[in-house]
Amino acid sequence: MVGVCCALELQARGHRVTLFERGEPGGETSSGNAGVAARSSLVPLNHPGLWQSLPSLLGNRGGALRYGPAYALRRAGRLAAFLLQARQQPFERTTAALDALIVHSRQRHRHWASEARAQHLWRSDGWFYLYRSQQAYAAAHPIRASWSRFGVAHETLDAHALRSVEPGLGTAYPVAVWVRDADAACDPRQVVQAYASLFVGNGGRLLQATVQHLSPAPGQGWLVHAADRPEEQVDEVVVALGPWSPGLLAGLGLKVPMLYERGYHMHYSWNGTQPLLRPVYDTGAACVLAPMAGGLRLSTGVELNELDAPASLAQLDMAERAVRTCLPLGARLDTQAWKGARPTLPDSRPAIGPSARLPGLWLALGHQHIGFSTGPGTAALLGSLVDGEPAPFDPSPFSPGRFRL
Ligand SMILES: Cc1cc2nc3c(=O)[nH]c(=O)nc-3n(C[C@H](O)[C@H](O)[C@H](O)COP(=O)(O)OP(=O)(O)OC[C@H]3O[C@@H](n4cnc5c(N)ncnc54)[C@H](O)[C@@H]3O)c2cc1C
Repeated sequence: MVGVCCALELQARGHRVTLFERGEPGGETSSGNAGVAARSSLVPLNHPGLWQSLPSLLGNRGGALRYGPAYALRRAGRLAAFLLQARQQPFERTTAALDALIVHSRQRHRHWASEARAQHLWRSDGWFYLYRSQQAYAAAHPIRASWSRFGVAHETLDAHALRSVEPGLGTAYPVAVWVRDADAACDPRQVVQAYASLFVGNGGRLLQATVQHLSPAPGQGWLVHAADRPEEQVDEVVVALGPWSPGLLAGLGLKVPMLYERGYHMHYSWNGTQPLLRPVYDTGAACVLAPMAGGLRLSTGVELNELDAPASLAQLDMAERAVRTCLPLGARLDTQAWKGARPTLPDSRPAIGPSARLPGLWLALGHQHIGFSTGPGTAALLGSLVDGEPAPFDPSPFSPGRFRL
């Protein structure tokens, strides 16, 4: 999503753009997510409340967060930096930055969805946080306080009010919060593909090619070395490879302090008489259920581990069991669970802008849990910086220079 949006935005600004994609646009992380684009996502995982839940998270048995012990040791420095951001002051800076990015992105999604004739893939009537007890609802008060500070439209519903707006849920959850400021996509992969087709239809060049490394061109500009192709010389290059960005940038001496928050999904049939219409976050089961083209998609919480470590289905199995105690989830529809990695930087803010070290190199990476929704705002910010125009929102919290990139 991020790379495709950057390509679209730069093209719209009059640049000649080539998009290198080793597979198909929207084939990786941007396909497997929960499709939610919500202002409630301005609260990152490393919010001040994380300290309170840390002792239980360290037990490594829950559904919300698990970690590979060897990975945690290897990445202790990055994890410590991530935790240190869960203090009030950095949290406030991050939430303000993310809110600007999310708000701008929603507008740009609507623009690109309209241009790409992809509006039918979106609905815009919010999503729900579901609680299994009043205590659980009360414990989440600080998160709602953050939403209120930014004016995120949300309202609390009891079980009966919830059933009247989302009949498929019945009355299984005693209390819920309806976040009204939210859109949802029913097929994230198709959204990215529609945007990529718009780019190509407008004359953009999409090369199915694996970029192996980048090198400075003699004089100025960059050489893009892709497998089985002659090298290409370009004036400027944007790296937006999601979780694979650190690998390519390491070849240029840039060390990206990325953490991989892996997650899984599985599609299910639904045995209820009323379908689920909107995505819901079952906070007790630590998973999101989203109605998608391929069935009801259950997406899991976070597993901190190496990008390519073998899959572990413990969280998926646990979430499924927990959901079944409340909802008429049907059979598994996929032969294998999908696995992806949320690409996260220690302060939960993506790096968007020029490299502080290498002229002509631009970065758009590290979008943690919100890259599907914030690709378009990322691209709008990047485009304004490339053209030296006033930015649509404050670029400084996103500066790659904060990590000496
Ligand atoms: C379980 C889960 C649920 C999520 N839910 C949501 C949600 O509800 N809402 C939301 O906004 N976000 C969500 N996210 C986060 C979101 O999916 C990511 O932040 C986002 O997809 C990152 O987009 P990206 O374009 O940076 O990366 P990607 O989508 O991974 O794109 C990177 C692209 O680079 C290509 N590539 C890699 N290496 C090379 C190379 N060498 N040469 C050429 N091409 C290459 C890949 O093929 C890929 O297509 C979720 C993530 C997970 C895992």
